[in-house]
Amino acid sequence: MGAKSVPEYFGTNVFDDRTMRARLSAKVYASLKKTIDEGTKLDSNVAESVATAMKEWALEKGATHYTHWFQPLTGVTAEKHDSFISPSPDGSVIMEFSGKELIQGEPDASSFPTGGIRATFEARGYTAWDPTSYAFIKDKTLCIPTAFCSYGGEALDKKTPLLRSMEALNKQALRILRLFGNDTAKNVRTSVGPEQEYFLITKEMYDQRPDLKYTGRTLFGAKAPKGQEMDDHYFGVIKPRVQAYMNDLNEELWKLGILAKTEHNEVAPAQHELAPIYSTTNLATDQNQLMMEMMQKVASRHGLVCLLHEKPFAGVNGSGKHNNWSMATDTGINLLSPGDTPYENAQFLLFLCAVIKAVDDYQDLLRLSVATAGNDHRLGANEAPPAIISVFLGDDLSAILDAIENDKPYKQDEAKIMKLGVDVLPRFARDNTDRNRTSPFAFTGNKFEFRSLGSSNSIACANMMLNAAVAESLKVYADRLENTDNFEVTLHEMIKKTIKDHKRILFNGNGYDNAWVEEAVKVRGLSNYRTTPDCMPHLLDEKNVKMLTAHKVFTEAELKSRCEIMLDNYCKQVLIEATTMTDMARKQILPAIECYTNKLANAVAGKKAVVGNLSCSYETDVIQRLSVLADQIYVRSNDLEKNIHMTGDAEDIIKESAVIRDTILPGMAQLRAAADEAETIVSTECWPYPSYGDLLFSVK
Ligand code: ADP
Ligand code: MG
Repeated sequence: MGAKSVPEYFGTNVFDDRTMRARLSAKVYASLKKTIDEGTKLDSNVAESVATAMKEWALEKGATHYTHWFQPLTGVTAEKHDSFISPSPDGSVIMEFSGKELIQGEPDASSFPTGGIRATFEARGYTAWDPTSYAFIKDKTLCIPTAFCSYGGEALDKKTPLLRSMEALNKQALRILRLFGNDTAKNVRTSVGPEQEYFLITKEMYDQRPDLKYTGRTLFGAKAPKGQEMDDHYFGVIKPRVQAYMNDLNEELWKLGILAKTEHNEVAPAQHELAPIYSTTNLATDQNQLMMEMMQKVASRHGLVCLLHEKPFAGVNGSGKHNNWSMATDTGINLLSPGDTPYENAQFLLFLCAVIKAVDDYQDLLRLSVATAGNDHRLGANEAPPAIISVFLGDDLSAILDAIENDKPYKQDEAKIMKLGVDVLPRFARDNTDRNRTSPFAFTGNKFEFRSLGSSNSIACANMMLNAAVAESLKVYADRLENTDNFEVTLHEMIKKTIKDHKRILFNGNGYDNAWVEEAVKVRGLSNYRTTPDCMPHLLDEKNVKMLTAHKVFTEAELKSRCEIMLDNYCKQVLIEATTMTDMARKQILPAIECYTNKLANAVAGKKAVVGNLSCSYETDVIQRLSVLADQIYVRSNDLEKNIHMTGDAEDIIKESAVIRDTILPGMAQLRAAADEAETIVSTECWPYPSYGDLLFSVK
């Protein structure tokens, strides 16, 4: 038998719609489908039938265990495997899986971060099946996507608020659609296509670097003679070993029903990108988590390591994740697509304005939704995109908004003023919308691309904030439009007002330009939160709490706990890095310098024994310089260690994170500078780690 074709094996490890339809009775299928599409409550008899069908399907596929698969606030997915086996009186076992086990699970959750919630409410959390995301098989285990909550109902994961935010947006968007006379759409869902960047290095190199092993990034490393300056890697020919990896990965992802589509080399050497075709946000979120996991797993089969850290290497581009986002009805109308008729155009402009207003009003929420210690190395530094959130619309669309705002014809040669609901929008070319790659939030034809996400971020965080903020804009609009007796006039006024009030967030220029930082902050009053400790506390700003609780995306207690957990993650991450650095400095770098210095000193002694009056200025100079650097490394490691011990003294986590940012990070940079200079002097033979060149060009 020949190899199976992609359509034959695509989704074979997923309990997807096809499988459900084939394996469930018509009645059970219809009832489950209603739950998936309309969020109706699941009947316990239905759950029982689904569980049985799921179990049979999984057993046929060789599964022995099942797990509730969820996304706690640690950033990675969690699973606890239970086997299907159940003892029989005769000493044999049967394979069992009940509706109850499908619907609810109780992981021993005491070690997941809860930011004080569980102390206040109930000691244990539980997981609840999310029927809108398909179950799948991974490593002989049936994985059931679930939400994770406390018994008080507080969300302890990323999935729950994401689902709530989708519901909030759905509710408000439907109100708007009804006002535009659309009575057929049953729901509005957001979709996401996340483009995932990553680095590939060999396992052999990785194993020699404690920094990569403990922190996912290099904490030391002098620049390689060649980096990304030749621009020869981007879209370049993919190396055979990388291609073999990508082929294998695609196959695994396709079996899991993930529509892996585009793969190419990125800007930095050893950097690549993988993009799936977009899907509903909650599904896209689960699939992106799964994709990251598979990327790492498949890499190890190829003797490679996939680095998902935002900034594994200083001096070359970091990795991000572009979150392509749109809103569409179940009837297939993309609400961010201009459409053909004046009425559709007006509706499009209103949804577009809703996004513009949302991004401006909740810049802080969008910024903090992507804030981690790792991503701070990209957003706050001189790298794409900047920490300042702004919206790129392109020239054509900007000209249209300008015309509406100022009641003027949108083109010089046209005498007519544009009237919403009467005139058709001019067509705008897609490439005009996609040229600027420096914008954090760009309109790209019929979707927005939020580019600030870090490569290891769960996309849940960015999307829950985006959905909630847009739901809020839509609510404001719907409240007004439902209460006007002149729909057209009010609509026109509202769009005009949005443009006037929020045009400060629109920026088509170069986001990396220093002049932009200046203008954005000083002239336009936009916020520029460079680090996680800068932005995260704003999660608890009154306006944010008010909006997020009003749309039932979070409770106040959940927000407090999240702020605490995110800052705690930040502190822990940086402290692990700092400790790894002092360790490497003392146990490996200083001894390496010592070893090389000794060699040189011995060489001098040897030479002088032969020829008495040699100057030996090469050895002497190097010994002197290395001695200075070794002293610096010694002193700076000690200082860093002292500061690490002092961080616990801060009175709360907000202060602690600021102290860590202001003392630990600069201390790490200083220690690194001395060590990196030493690396450029010490012989390769004596240096304990593979160099940047070794790492970045390791995969042939
Ligand atoms: P690029 O940004 O590299 O030019 P594309 O814009 O074609 O590539 O697609 C990038 C991602 O956007 C893909 O994952 C694609 O499926 C997704 N995408 C395309 N259309 C939409 C849409 N309407 N909503 C959400 N994502 C979309
Ligand atoms: Mg893109």
